[in-house]
Amino acid sequence: MTVLVQKFGGTSVGSIENILTVAKKVKKFHDEGFQIVVVVSAMAGDTDRLLALATQIGYSHHRSRETDALLSTGEQTSAALMSMALNKLGCKSRSVTGMQAGIITDDNHTKARIHNIDTERFLHWLNSGEIVVVTGFQGVTKDGYITTLGRGGSDTSAVAIAAALKADECQIYTDVDGVFTTDPNIVEGARRLDKITFEEMLEMASLGSKVLQIRAVEFAGKYNVCIRVLNTFKEGPGTLITFDNVESNQKMEAPLVSGIAFNRNEARVTLKGIADKPGIAYKILGVLASASVDIDMIVQSSSKNGVTDLTFTVNRCDYQEALELVQQQAADLDIQDIEGDNKVAKISVIGVGMRSHAGVAATMFEVLAENSINIQAITTSEIKISVLVGEKYLELAVRSLHSAFKMEQGAKSETTFR
Ligand code: ADP
Ligand code: ASP
Ligand code: MG
Repeated sequence: MTVLVQKFGGTSVGSIENILTVAKKVKKFHDEGFQIVVVVSAMAGDTDRLLALATQIGYSHHRSRETDALLSTGEQTSAALMSMALNKLGCKSRSVTGMQAGIITDDNHTKARIHNIDTERFLHWLNSGEIVVVTGFQGVTKDGYITTLGRGGSDTSAVAIAAALKADECQIYTDVDGVFTTDPNIVEGARRLDKITFEEMLEMASLGSKVLQIRAVEFAGKYNVCIRVLNTFKEGPGTLITFDNVESNQKMEAPLVSGIAFNRNEARVTLKGIADKPGIAYKILGVLASASVDIDMIVQSSSKNGVTDLTFTVNRCDYQEALELVQQQAADLDIQDIEGDNKVAKISVIGVGMRSHAGVAATMFEVLAENSINIQAITTSEIKISVLVGEKYLELAVRSLHSAFKMEQGAKSETTFR
């Protein structure tokens, strides 16, 4: 029989009415003969509500065992309710937690990685005709402590279960029609993509498009899981994440830019007047790495009279800590001045088609200049260009770029050879 893994996000299970709608949808697939594993997120807003409760206690160890014990309860509520709704419709169903499903992770609390899944248990339940409803976002360490997989982690639970069960498809149901050229809640004219290459989806996810968690995409790539993103409340083809080699079979038609991603969760730190000598960047960044502060963009300006400036970005939640850490090192490292801004955002244009087209960067910078948007940092790779801008310009920049690269619905996508 064919196994389908169907994951429903927070909005999809955000009310009893929605849970009942989802249960009917799942029953339809089950009646057609599929063996089904449902993975659920917490009801919309529940994870944030739980985090706020910890903050009210004054609890500051946000990456701990207790945080995970607390956060995992959101998914337990929705899984139990989903199973009840399925039972009410006459389906045999059981809800299981990450622990009961045998989803074993490392002990990196709040950011745990899945090590293995007990396939036997799933097969036993499925073969006895049950619809298995699994709590997304959570697992258990080998010592029996509950872990969570990072925000948006239910996507990863679903893909990992699909990989373990060699499911036919992993369907990610959400509140939009699929993966769009950019966030459809920001750009009205954003276009749904029928297909997106795995490589592009990986970039989109890593650069801030929360429609899929990055780890879910990585997992799919490693284990060849077929993912389709669909709207829970509307019939439609959704978006298929394909492993096709766009280079070889449709290079001429491949659009230069297939998507625009953005991340508001950035903060910039600039160190001015540091000595331009070997080992300085290593010392500065080493201090941050030992405090587990992840660095994103790094830019060093050209040196003048033996001194240079270094700019880097961190997650907004790490901003204060990063500033304090470099301030403590200022005297040691001869840093003349430290300046920062936590109201910045990163915007990235992505597309495998841009590999051989230098013109994409020129167009991007021209559009930003025309709108008087200052670029604070730039990073590039073969298939993406990212710029850091003031957060207040984010929406203007994304909309202008979306239109400049002709990505709107109905726009003729064309390739300009320069
Ligand atoms: P869920 O709770 O179902 O997991 P998320 O809120 O995590 O849903 O992800 C869906 C949201 O992702 C959409 O509502 C949309 O605002 C956002 N999003 C960002 N970029 C894109 C994109 N390129 N295509 C589709 N949705 C996007
Ligand atoms: N409930 C978790 C979150 O809000 C996991 C998820 O929804 O995927 O991040
Ligand atoms: Mg999500």
